Amino acid sequence: MYEVSGRKSGWRRILSASLVSPQDIADRLGIGSSMIEPVTARYPARINPYYLSLIESKGDSLWRQAVPDPAELKDRVFKESDPLSEAGQSPVAGLIHRYPDRVLFMVSDKCAMYCRYCMRKRIVGGGKGAGDVDIGKGLDYISRTPRVREVILSGGDPLMADDAGLDKLLSRISRIEHVEVIRIHTRMPCTLPFRITSDLVRILGAHAPLYVNIQFNHPDELTDEAKKACAMLADAGIPLGCQTVLLAGVNDDIKTMTALMTGLLAARIRPYYIHHPDPVQGTAHFTVPLKKGLEIMDALRGNISGMGVPNYMIDLPGGGGKVPLLPQYVLERTEEKLVVRNFENQIFEYQI
Ligand SMILES: *Cc1c(COP(=O)(O)O)cnc(C)c1O
Ligand code: SF4
Repeated sequence: MYEVSGRKSGWRRILSASLVSPQDIADRLGIGSSMIEPVTARYPARINPYYLSLIESKGDSLWRQAVPDPAELKDRVFKESDPLSEAGQSPVAGLIHRYPDRVLFMVSDKCAMYCRYCMRKRIVGGGKGAGDVDIGKGLDYISRTPRVREVILSGGDPLMADDAGLDKLLSRISRIEHVEVIRIHTRMPCTLPFRITSDLVRILGAHAPLYVNIQFNHPDELTDEAKKACAMLADAGIPLGCQTVLLAGVNDDIKTMTALMTGLLAARIRPYYIHHPDPVQGTAHFTVPLKKGLEIMDALRGNISGMGVPNYMIDLPGGGGKVPLLPQYVLERTEEKLVVRNFENQIFEYQI
């Protein structure tokens, strides 16, 4: 719908041609700027030309992820901007230590697109509450905390840094003796696949074991460009996972999720999690009944490759952490046996 010329030029150039101001967004997308001006004043927008070119019609699954919506300011359901109490689990600014052996290191508050449902809406794009990320303090904390086996670079999007900065950061983390694994959480292969250059791949590949977890939410995001970016990473020996967010009007149906999970597998990306959306203020219009999520999980299990079935996760309020939810398979349990149903709803007894 929105054709863009020259989108194969350098990723920085593509990014600088993003729609950011309410006026530009309104003009380009044919919506009233007065509708979205107060929205972007509170929650910044960035729709880069590549992602814009994937939108096919007003209100479609990609539009909903990218285009500011007055509903963000009318949320009367979710009251908290940080319901998971991330700020309360930060020993130093920009770093969250919730689980024993791994930390989440928010090294950037910028992204190639500002997803309207983002659980860190309070931070991304330099919104209210964004603290300056102090990389040095985070690194110090990791160095003096020997139980940290894994460092997860997140944000924002860590791949917003330039190659030299990223290489330096990865080298500094790799030098910490007790850090065994680095993980990068990024949406770049999906929202701006041209960021995955051969130079970047060389840098990431040099810091193995390094895992990249991407976020694809809809099969239409698995374009030739996105698949090529993922193939470059996979060819360099970088294991790829996907953390999808379950979102109303985007992917909250069995057909879309099945197409997405099988599409990911075909692109050498292992579905890792489907996240139930967090109750973050400004995102109530994306919320999905838990029942729907379980129904989707039920439809995936058995019907597609087990490699394509992720865990369905809720994140507990107040920093309780992530918990997987499963459809009910065990119908009855006694001392001697389980009564279990399979994916075709046939009932079996299983001796224990
Ligand atoms: C989700 C999350 C992690 C990573 O959890 P995994 O289950 O290992 O993927 C780590 N730290 C924080 C704060 C998180 O929210
Ligand atoms: S890329 Fe990730 S951190 Fe950035 S806005 Fe989207 S969901 Fe939020």
